[in-house]
Amino acid sequence: MSHLLEARALTGGYGPVQVLRGLDFHVDAGEVVVILGANGAGKTTTLRALSGMIPARGEVVFDGRSIIGRRPEAIVRFGIAHVPQGRGTIADLTVEENLRVGAIIRRDREVGADIDRWYEMFPRLAERRDQAAGSMSGGEQQMLAIARALMCRPRLLLLDEPSLGLAPLVTREVFERLAHVNRELGTTVLVVEQNANLALEIADRGYVLEAGLIAASGRADELASDESVRKAYLGY
Ligand code: ATP
Repeated sequence: MSHLLEARALTGGYGPVQVLRGLDFHVDAGEVVVILGANGAGKTTTLRALSGMIPARGEVVFDGRSIIGRRPEAIVRFGIAHVPQGRGTIADLTVEENLRVGAIIRRDREVGADIDRWYEMFPRLAERRDQAAGSMSGGEQQMLAIARALMCRPRLLLLDEPSLGLAPLVTREVFERLAHVNRELGTTVLVVEQNANLALEIADRGYVLEAGLIAASGRADELASDESVRKAYLGY
């Protein structure tokens, strides 16, 4: 079976600075895959390369089609949604307005039904549907960012460090919601995380990035129990 997403010899960076030095990785339909690594290893840059936010080279095939060099709007239409670090919700808009903005590329009439569905999946959002996004807690904002990305009905959700700035219990809740979305909707997830422990609990597989290269990869339970990987790359 071919992979949902496959990257080969992926390179990319910022101007003259090459950050990604040739990555090979894949994500299968239905999986949760985590990219781990220290600060500056290139995790965020990898997601930006996949979603067309920075110039990238190499091969990236999504659902049988090459997406390398495509513009971000085109990549969203192919079915890849990106929740950036810092979440990207609009602070002055309410929860519900943010969700409607997330549906902007859709032309169908089922937007309202989807919103109700996310309210079921994220009950905290339902309670706060008329509240300005900027006045919600970090965890609630992260859940809103995920729900908003789901509004374009992606097949693949790219998520950049959802735990950023969140207390451990809140991070756990966000990850549990994410696992729920993966199970219930079948949405495939590629998540970048520094919090290796929690991410490996919900992930099927993982890749460890080091200085723009893949230093280790494997099943999540194998990575979590591999002492040399843990000590060298995960810092616990
Ligand atoms: P972190 O967890 O700290 O975000 P990361 O693994 O996601 O780490 P990246 O954000 O991908 O790392 O950064 C990789 C390298 O690219 C770093 O050396 C960083 O300084 C550099 N970099 C990131 N963004 C830019 C930018 N806009 N312009 C120039 N260099 C950048």
